[in-house]
Amino acid sequence: MELKICHLYPDVLNLYGDGGNIICMQQRLKWRGIQSEVSRVMIGDTLRLSDCDLLFIGGGQDFEQEVLLPDLQSGKDREIIAAIEDGLTVLTICGGYQMLGQYYETYDGVRCDFIGALDLYTVGSKQRMIGNTVCHCTEECGGSTIVGFENHSGKTRLGPGVKPLAHVQVGFGNNGEDKTEGAHYRNVFGSYSHGPLLPKNPAFCDLLLLTALQRRYGDATLEPLDDLAERKAHDAMVQRLTGQR
Ligand code: GLN
Repeated sequence: MELKICHLYPDVLNLYGDGGNIICMQQRLKWRGIQSEVSRVMIGDTLRLSDCDLLFIGGGQDFEQEVLLPDLQSGKDREIIAAIEDGLTVLTICGGYQMLGQYYETYDGVRCDFIGALDLYTVGSKQRMIGNTVCHCTEECGGSTIVGFENHSGKTRLGPGVKPLAHVQVGFGNNGEDKTEGAHYRNVFGSYSHGPLLPKNPAFCDLLLLTALQRRYGDATLEPLDDLAERKAHDAMVQRLTGQR
């Protein structure tokens, strides 16, 4: 078995080590003897997702999101929408997550009309939402607890066509008001959690990998790993941030 992973805008959208999510996914596949191939798609490159199993998009500052807008609207948007509707597994973080929504209006009033693949929109706020996070994934997103770090001014509002990824215990999440974090639609998983997200959240990483493997191979399974160190790092953050074991 193998997985083909596409990393979109790796040079522009890569805040707080988001590229580490790719390393984590490849390593957890390698430990199981599963090959993986990563294609890096930059501004100006052609995006082809028809033979891709998993798409990853990291986070970026307002300026970087504005810079990549013309390239996104040059055809990459249509390719991403078609792949999402075809069940492609997607992990997208913060600015990349916002980009899949209808629009992002920065605090400075710049309106970025994004691709509308997800029923959500984002409006920049004066209060930046910064800090460590502890969130609880919904059952359909695996039910695990995820720890992370967030830094965004955008407040994201979910429409009826999309569900939250998780609910916030510590931190702001989508907007610091409705206790939702991220979004889930078909096999798209969006989150505000940087860190990178996956190394300290092995159960969530394996959910993504299994979703992609099962779409490609049907009844794929993932052998358990000896990831005690990762789980201890995860649990240490949960205890530090919530006081609970
Ligand atoms: N520029 C966006 C915001 O501030 C996204 C930030 C990010 O990706 N961390 O909301």
